[in-house]
Amino acid sequence: MRGVWSIPVSTLLLVNEAHPLAEEPPAEELLPVDSRFPEVKLHVRAKVMLDQLLTAAGGRGAVLPVSGYRPRREQEMIWADALAEHGTAFTQTYVARPGCSEHQTGLAVDLGENVPDVDFLCPSFPETGACGRLRRLAAGYGFVLRYPRGKEKVTGIGYEPWHFRYVGWPHARLMEERGLVLEEYLDWLRSFPEQGPHLNYRAAGRNFEVYHVPAARLEGLEARLPSHIPCQCSQTNGEGVVLTLWRDAG
Ligand SMILES: [Zn+2]
Repeated sequence: MRGVWSIPVSTLLLVNEAHPLAEEPPAEELLPVDSRFPEVKLHVRAKVMLDQLLTAAGGRGAVLPVSGYRPRREQEMIWADALAEHGTAFTQTYVARPGCSEHQTGLAVDLGENVPDVDFLCPSFPETGACGRLRRLAAGYGFVLRYPRGKEKVTGIGYEPWHFRYVGWPHARLMEERGLVLEEYLDWLRSFPEQGPHLNYRAAGRNFEVYHVPAARLEGLEARLPSHIPCQCSQTNGEGVVLTLWRDAG
């Protein structure tokens, strides 16, 4: 496999009820999060960063990966089981419709406190101990709490303290600082078009430059990118792409 950082991955892909996922990640880019739970897989980039986050939070053993990548077929079964077991209101609050689940991207992971009988749909994830530390450190490793309290109307999903989404750096930090969920963050980034002015953000000794290119302007984009600056291009799922330039500190 090529280096983790050279595999292009659209970390800002928006997947929700209005934005179903068109294409699932290639199987060879999905890896088990933990050798003890080989069935819980993530995109390799998210896996590497989750490893670092778990180590930093002192969470190995105390925090378990409960669910990672799910193919559409599995989401269909979860949806049907939840409906049968818990009814419509619960299912619509905590389970994404098949085709509209972030878990199908390989960039989302449900984590749970290591307790007997971990609940698969709603694992316990307290704000204290290793879980609390992980939550506070998550943004530094590119993860956000995707369905926070108070944003239920925007995300369409109830508060889920266990569901973390890898969006990458510096986006996780920016989203946390500004209190934005992915829907709101992508809306905000659209106010930084390619023609300028771009979003400039300084963090961890780098100067990041971020801007949005609408679908109608994608032709010839590669030729318009600066050739000497590391650049990440993320699809957003139907509304253009976000470019992130990693400039040196200056
Ligand atoms: Zn989840």
